[in-house]
Amino acid sequence: MSLVGPKPNPAPAASRLVRVACYAWAAPTSLVGLVVGLLTLATRGRVRCVAGVLEFHGGLSRWLLERTPIGAQALALGHVIVGRDLESLDRCRRHERVHVRQAERWGPAFLPAYLASSAWAWLRGLDPYYANHFERQAYREANGCDSLGFVRASRRRGASAGGPVRGQPERRSDHRA
Ligand SMILES: [Zn+2]
Repeated sequence: MSLVGPKPNPAPAASRLVRVACYAWAAPTSLVGLVVGLLTLATRGRVRCVAGVLEFHGGLSRWLLERTPIGAQALALGHVIVGRDLESLDRCRRHERVHVRQAERWGPAFLPAYLASSAWAWLRGLDPYYANHFERQAYREANGCDSLGFVRASRRRGASAGGPVRGQPERRSDHRA
């Protein structure tokens, strides 16, 4: 065996391996997203792949998101993001990508942990969405502020404008994991 010449750089292969492991670890969550995605395609929805994540919109995705209690625009399920339309997906991408990374870290435990965090917030009398640990992290990383601070700021803006609390319009631009 010759040792002459530059050593091969193992980084790309290792990096690919890590990426494959991330997709495999998040696969149970992605599978739920794929079911919603396939039903979206069956109901005249569309799909595209953006930086390794499948993004579905229209059809069933729109129908479901319009009926969420917070009026969500988009929602991440592993390496699948569903949105009402292309504009919603573009606007929410940074936030939803945080949830994609969370799913890569938590693997099969992501959805149970997310629901448990909402339940814990609700039991403490807090908003199950804005006080959810995963949402607070997503708001911090994508929006630059904690989601609870986001709500307080929205309410201050509503109060200073002399109008009603602007929670609902703000919520409509929110996104759920
Ligand atoms: Zn979210």
